[in-house]
Amino acid sequence: MARAFIGFGGNLGDTRQIITDAIVCLALRSELQILTKSCFYQSAPIDANGGDYINAVIEIETQLSPYGLLHVCQAIENEFGRERPYSNAPRTLDLDILSFEGVTQNETELILPHPRIIERSFVLLPLLEIAPNFFLPDLGELKTYLPKVAHQRIEKLPCRNCNCGEKAVYSQAAH
Ligand code: ADP
Ligand code: MG
Repeated sequence: MARAFIGFGGNLGDTRQIITDAIVCLALRSELQILTKSCFYQSAPIDANGGDYINAVIEIETQLSPYGLLHVCQAIENEFGRERPYSNAPRTLDLDILSFEGVTQNETELILPHPRIIERSFVLLPLLEIAPNFFLPDLGELKTYLPKVAHQRIEKLPCRNCNCGEKAVYSQAAH
């Protein structure tokens, strides 16, 4: 079994509902188990146009290979009407594999860990919420990269049905 982290994002339609439904789709698959889910975050588009994004990160355990997981993620994107009219276009749903156990590879179809993992507050904040001490061999502790993304606008959204959103946003001041 491998541990992996998946990042979700979208800015077309009711993204919070779409991500929730996509997580249910993943949970229904026997090849993987969902271990943890972050809260939702609302973030400004970066290198892209359109409205604000909604983001979240989950941790899973899976028997799939890295490419097997990618193909599951892409199938779910397609089920939710993902279109790619141009690079960084607004999207209903984007699923990116942020890391897959200790796998490091640089193949165009699947780069692991995800190449922009430390460059985006919308990845770092939800990831560090569920894995505060996340460490990658080539990058070290991911929390040390928070100051570099501190200028990127992002807000943690309160949870609708539980009080987990009342936990403080991951604060670089505390580390
Ligand atoms: P974006 O870069 O905005 O996420 P897409 O979702 O359209 O854009 O992905 C573009 C390509 O990135 C896909 O065809 C996919 O094969 C490739 N890719 C490379 N590494 C990864 C990864 N770690 N997770 C998801 N897709 C990846
Ligand atoms: Mg993607």
